[in-house]
Amino acid sequence: DSRISRISQAMDIYPNFPKPGITFIDIFPIMRSPDVFSDLTDLLVDHIKQTHPNVEIIFGLDARGFLFGPLIAQRLGISFAPIRKAGKLPGETLQASFQLEYGSDKFEVQKCSAAKGQNVIIIDDLLATGGTMAAAYKLMKDLEADVLECIVLVELENLNGRSKIPGKVFSVIKRN
Ligand code: IMP
Repeated sequence: DSRISRISQAMDIYPNFPKPGITFIDIFPIMRSPDVFSDLTDLLVDHIKQTHPNVEIIFGLDARGFLFGPLIAQRLGISFAPIRKAGKLPGETLQASFQLEYGSDKFEVQKCSAAKGQNVIIIDDLLATGGTMAAAYKLMKDLEADVLECIVLVELENLNGRSKIPGKVFSVIKRN
């Protein structure tokens, strides 16, 4: 798929950011080019239409899942809902904790964002150790939603984050 190589080439790589030893993948340059951004959204919409035509809600992860999730949901004619860092969402919520490199953080979802048994897809920009996506997956299970797939733009394959997710994972670009 020629779209994948255009998306891959658009991303910038920053060694030693945000700290020494970490290689940071910057996905924002994809949006500098409306054509490459369209490649990405078209590819994800095609993938979901082909593999999960029964999806009802796209859940995006705070913060970069918010860049792609609503666009894709609107193209599919379905709902979008946010999974946010704790303390940002009003009303009744559910929480799940996840590990960061140092310490931990909490995700939160509104109880009203999915009904029991609804078919959902979770989307984020990047899968590294998988801790973030695993926490989002747990929240969806707590909501009693049915997770069809977790979608990321980039998967850092050598960290094997996939093994932490008890369901399907789809990544557009795999890196080491
Ligand atoms: P994980 O929990 O280790 O899988 O980390 C994934 C989370 O960290 C995602 O929400 C990403 O947005 C963020 N992240 C980790 N590494 C990078 C990177 O190189 N570029 C952009 N985001 C990253």
